[in-house]
Amino acid sequence: MRLRFAPSPTGYLHVGGARTALFNWLLVRQAGGAFVLRVEDTDRDRSRPEHVDAILGGLSWLGIDWDEGPVFQADGLARHRLDAERLLEAGRAYRDFTAREDFERARDAAVAAGTGTVARLARNMAAAVSPEESRRRAAAGEPFAVRFLVPPGTTEWLDLVHGRMRFANDEIDDFVILRSDGTPTYNLAVVSDDAAMSISHVVRGADHISNTPKQILLYEALDAPVPAFGHLPLILGPDGKRLSKRHGARAVEAFAAEGVLPDAMVNFLALLGWSPGTDEELLVRDDLIERFSLERVLKKGAVFDAAKLLWMNGQYIARMEAGEVAAALRGVLEGGATALDDDAFARMAAALAPRSRTFVEMARLARPYIAPLDGYDAKAARKGWYRDRAGAAELLRAVQDRLGGAAWEAEPLEAALRGLAAERGVGAGKVFQPLRLALTGVPASPGIFDVLLILGRERSLRRVEWAIAHIEGEGGAG
Ligand code: GLU
Repeated sequence: MRLRFAPSPTGYLHVGGARTALFNWLLVRQAGGAFVLRVEDTDRDRSRPEHVDAILGGLSWLGIDWDEGPVFQADGLARHRLDAERLLEAGRAYRDFTAREDFERARDAAVAAGTGTVARLARNMAAAVSPEESRRRAAAGEPFAVRFLVPPGTTEWLDLVHGRMRFANDEIDDFVILRSDGTPTYNLAVVSDDAAMSISHVVRGADHISNTPKQILLYEALDAPVPAFGHLPLILGPDGKRLSKRHGARAVEAFAAEGVLPDAMVNFLALLGWSPGTDEELLVRDDLIERFSLERVLKKGAVFDAAKLLWMNGQYIARMEAGEVAAALRGVLEGGATALDDDAFARMAAALAPRSRTFVEMARLARPYIAPLDGYDAKAARKGWYRDRAGAAELLRAVQDRLGGAAWEAEPLEAALRGLAAERGVGAGKVFQPLRLALTGVPASPGIFDVLLILGRERSLRRVEWAIAHIEGEGGAG
């Protein structure tokens, strides 16, 4: 099998492109063969080198490697022209000297008159030019486009996803294959390249279905073997419309910056239009390579659910080794000096892992432990402290007292705080919540004993002291 991913470097690697690349890659890595990367840069105005870098970088980040390439489509220009030439010589294409404005005027008139001849309009107009005249004008340097002469009949293929597909040729217009500036159009360049690279399977987005009959006709006219085609379902936003930035679809690199893990992204992309046939959702790369099949690719659109991606990422974080989690968190914190020693840092990372969907989120949740407190959550302080300032301060004093006398280990700390709650005849939460706010500034955190151990004796007691001063002082009344 020889498959390819053929992105146009007119933008970054987006979700749809990444999904197409992944499905091709999974097929090759499962069946063996070659995965070719071809950069379709024939649109000189819109192609940018930085987009090439971003696409290659996005694929590398995802762990999608290629066996050949990147091949640049623009390097095949001479072959593209030669193929157009061959089609002209074989009578399978013709020169079109009609100026664009003239063609458009005639087309609008045909549409207005409802004559139904629009698909053959270009051919009918070009027919006014005899073959000899056509050659003479071309030799004289007059510009012309080359159009493919669509033959009569129907064009069919057995789509690997959609099954039998059939198009009536008389609905296909004589599409341009070479523009008057000598550049190939997409349909010619892609067929010329896929044939030259002996691509056996073309797997791409369903937005290309209408190109496929044109391309099959070109293969046949060029006497090249027609590859197998499979068209992947469109990716939709939750509102059923085609996925766009509006839905939170960004470049793959933006997900990386948000702290999404490449393995989670791959897992998520694999389920965008494919299902293992069970309700399993967590499938690691090797599972995917083993189980992927085009038969299980859905025909209908696949909905992109950003919340599911984050959930999945959280599942991947939860399954990481403690050491890996700590290292990844340090990476996101950019190694910035923290107030924690290695043990406390590792404890913090382990405690935050189940609460974090991404490492960026984890870094945010880590702030109370690695940096000085910058205030207290206003709503939590109103509820937990200000309603009864004297009571809250008194309680925190008692907590301070118990903690001060306890060995700084999970069990004695727990015994001290639970003992205090029991003596006062209140639930443990009545002690933990005000203390949590004092220690972290926020109403939600890992377990209170983890928090105490992460912060250590000195910082914990100092924060309780500050909280008492804050509650008794003027600040934050409300
Ligand atoms: N450059 C085309 C695109 O990005 C490739 C289509 C194809 O795979 O044939 O949509």
